Amino acid sequence: MIIAVSVLAGLGLVAGFGLALAARFFAVETDPRQEKVLDALPGANCGGCGFAGCSDFAAAVVKGLAPPNGCPVGGMETTFKIAEIMGMSADASAHVAKMALVLCQGTDDVAPVKFLYNGSATCASAAQLAGGQKLCSYGCLGFGDCQRACPFGAIEITEGGVARVIRQRCTGCGNCVEACPKNLIRLVPVTARVHILCSNKDKGAAARKACQVACIACRKCQKVAGEEHIEMDGFLARIKYDDPPSDPALAGECPTGAIRAISLDGSPIPIPATKEDAAASASGGGE
Ligand code: SF4
Ligand code: SF4
Repeated sequence: MIIAVSVLAGLGLVAGFGLALAARFFAVETDPRQEKVLDALPGANCGGCGFAGCSDFAAAVVKGLAPPNGCPVGGMETTFKIAEIMGMSADASAHVAKMALVLCQGTDDVAPVKFLYNGSATCASAAQLAGGQKLCSYGCLGFGDCQRACPFGAIEITEGGVARVIRQRCTGCGNCVEACPKNLIRLVPVTARVHILCSNKDKGAAARKACQVACIACRKCQKVAGEEHIEMDGFLARIKYDDPPSDPALAGECPTGAIRAISLDGSPIPIPATKEDAAASASGGGE
C-alpha cells in the first residue's frame, strides 16, 4: 500500500515537473497591450468588427491588423482608449457612428401580396419562392431573419409586417445587413437626416402598383437636392451617404412618401418632415 502511494506520488511529481517544463518551453508570448485593449472593448462579442469576437479583435489590433476604430459597438470612447493603449493618435473624424436602417416601408396596408406563403417562416426560405410573397419583389418579407441575427434586440417586426430598427438599441454591428436576403438593410451615418426608405428598382408604374410608398423615379428629390446628394440606381433614387442631403424638408417633395426625415441619433428635426407629418402636426398629431 505504502509502495503504491509512493509510486503514484512519484509519478505525479514527474508529470507535474514535465508540465511545468512544457509550459515554459511552449509558452506563447502575448503582447501585454492585448489584455488592455480587450478590457477597453465593450465585450459584446457580436463580430461587428469582422473578427470572431472581442479577443480576436484585440489580438488583431496589437498586431496592427485592425484599426483602433474597428469596434462599431464601442464608439468614439473605445476608439480613443485603444488609440491611447497603442500609443497612436485617434482622429475623431475617423469614427463616424453608423446605424442600421431598413430601406422599405412596405407594410401590409400599402404593399399587397401576390400569393399566400405557408412555407418555413424565414425570409431566406420565402425569398427562394419567386422572390417572396410580396408583389414588390424588393420588399421586406417580415419573417425576421434580421431580428434573429441582431445580438442587441434592436430589430422588431411591426404590426404591418416590416422590420424596423430600434435606434436606441442599435450599435451598428451590421449583423442584420448580412442576414437580410433582400439586401434591404444599410448601415448609414447617424448624422444623416433624410432617407429614401425604398429599394424597388422597377419603373414608376410597376413600382407604385407593387407598393404605394415606393420610389417612382420621378427624380424630383434629385432636382431639389442636387446630384451630389442623390443618385439614381436604375429607377430608384438613393441617398449618397458620403454626402447626404441636409434639409429634412426634402421629404415633403416626394409624391409617394418614400423619403422620410429621420433622426437616427435622437437630435430634434426642426420642421415637419412630410406632407402627412405637417398635417398631423397642424392637427396636434404626430409621434
Ligand atoms: S440592428 Fe443590425 S446593426 Fe444594429 S445592433 Fe442589431 S444587428 Fe447590429
Ligand atoms: S429586412 Fe430583410 S431579413 Fe429583415 S424581415 Fe425584412 S426581408 Fe427579412
